[in-house]
Amino acid sequence: MSFEALGLHASIVKAATDAGYTKPTPVQEQAIPAGIAGRDLLVSSQTGSGKTAAFMLPALHKLASAEQAPVAPRGAPGERPRFKAAQPKMLVLTPTRELALQVTTATEKYGTQIRRIRAVSILGGMPYPKQMQLLAKNPEILVATPGRLIDHMESGKIDFSQLEILVLDEADRMLDMGFIDDIEKIIAATPEGRQTMLFSATLDGMVGNMARRITKDPMVIQI
Ligand code: AMP
Repeated sequence: MSFEALGLHASIVKAATDAGYTKPTPVQEQAIPAGIAGRDLLVSSQTGSGKTAAFMLPALHKLASAEQAPVAPRGAPGERPRFKAAQPKMLVLTPTRELALQVTTATEKYGTQIRRIRAVSILGGMPYPKQMQLLAKNPEILVATPGRLIDHMESGKIDFSQLEILVLDEADRMLDMGFIDDIEKIIAATPEGRQTMLFSATLDGMVGNMARRITKDPMVIQI
């Protein structure tokens, strides 16, 4: 099986090839076509299985295929520009800063051929003014740890009404770290019609319960 055969755009196949990937990993073979088709996914797989590309390649394919919305006018001429909330199309939630930064770096690598798609990390411990600057650019993709994201959401800096794709990466670890209330609050602010992809070492217990509540007719992939 090749990346082309999974249905990805040539530009994304080229980025994967340039990254040194010769063929998809087992989790990518299953997740990529389903992700492109818009299916919700529940994936039980470990770090090292190629899970980041399993959600990011189909997501980039979909975002690159979507029509670009016209740029909204920012007030009448002469009017003082007002801060407009960022309206991301994709959100990746991760348990740790380190994983968020890895996902952002991988996204930049996979998206090198797609100039208009930007990914930004929103992390605890990063200075607020720096994050405000990043959000003001209205990036298409946010990669975030739940706590800091909630702060920005509650202060009106992020509006999830245009969100199309939600990814929970290492969902079991996020629950172990006590992020359940934050995750529920964030999900409640996103549209019902979004695509949801959940990755976790296990799909049992608490994470399984949450997974079933937040997905619709998911494809379950166990690697
Ligand atoms: P992950 O499971 O997403 O943390 O990825 C683990 C490692 O595998 C990362 O270093 C990726 O760059 C690499 N990787 C992902 N997909 C492939 C692939 N299809 N072929 C070779 N390496 C890959």
